[in-house]
Amino acid sequence: MDPNQAITIDGLSWSYDDRPILTDIAAAVEKQAFTTILGPNGSGKTTLLKQILRILPVRAGTVFLESRDITGLDRRDLAHVIGMVPQNERNPYQFTVEDMIRLGRYAHREHDQKHEGYEARSIERVMKLTSIDHLKDHLITEISGGEYQRVIIARALAQEPRIIALDEPTTYLDPLHQLGILKLLKQLIINEGLTVICILHDLNSAMSFSDHVIMLHDGKVFGHGTPQEMITPQTLKAVYGITTQMVEDPFTRRPYIIPDTNL
Ligand code: ADP
Repeated sequence: MDPNQAITIDGLSWSYDDRPILTDIAAAVEKQAFTTILGPNGSGKTTLLKQILRILPVRAGTVFLESRDITGLDRRDLAHVIGMVPQNERNPYQFTVEDMIRLGRYAHREHDQKHEGYEARSIERVMKLTSIDHLKDHLITEISGGEYQRVIIARALAQEPRIIALDEPTTYLDPLHQLGILKLLKQLIINEGLTVICILHDLNSAMSFSDHVIMLHDGKVFGHGTPQEMITPQTLKAVYGITTQMVEDPFTRRPYIIPDTNL
């Protein structure tokens, strides 16, 4: 097994009620890099992420997290390796931001009981990392969508995982806050050595921020590679059925995708 791989997937298949959703998926996620899962609605992206997080059990094929078979990990070990930021979470409870982030410490409870003050320092640290320390005592029902997204990223970081998996973390955010989340993830890779695996819909964000793209189509891996290799007019036509042109993004020097908006 390649020690540079955070996640290694082989022969993974999943069906809901005999309806195949994922078929023979083989993919790898490199450590300390930004891997994006792309694909149209219904192509199996969330199902794949749920299998990597063992929210759904692995029935056919294998998933290795840092060279360990996921089926052999207990819940606590799993939480130490991978944290999750779910899609479109909105919690109706009257938690403060601090209490919400504390939930992320569940796999460290025994440790925190033995080490006085560790939990509070850990929560403070992830609030600083995600720039929400000023919101500590606010109720989660009374913060904006962008702030909420940072809170659930902080909760995942409080787990102290080495991998963070995010399901469309920017979908409902305005452009400034979208950019803020994606830059935060990039900083976490560079400064904290984190591995990021993320479902995105915005092709230009995927192009700008990803190191690696896994493209799904009808429950199969259409291809994987650098964003420049995977996001091309040909693949976008084949996978999404859209016509596009590429120009050069003056900031990143990577291609910028322009969809044909003619009627
Ligand atoms: P994506 O994230 O790419 O939009 P999903 O993994 O959410 O795709 O869904 C893939 C397919 O699985 C879809 O056709 C969806 O309707 C189906 N599906 C998702 N969850 C369930 C479920 N709990 N029961 C039955 N079918 C499901």
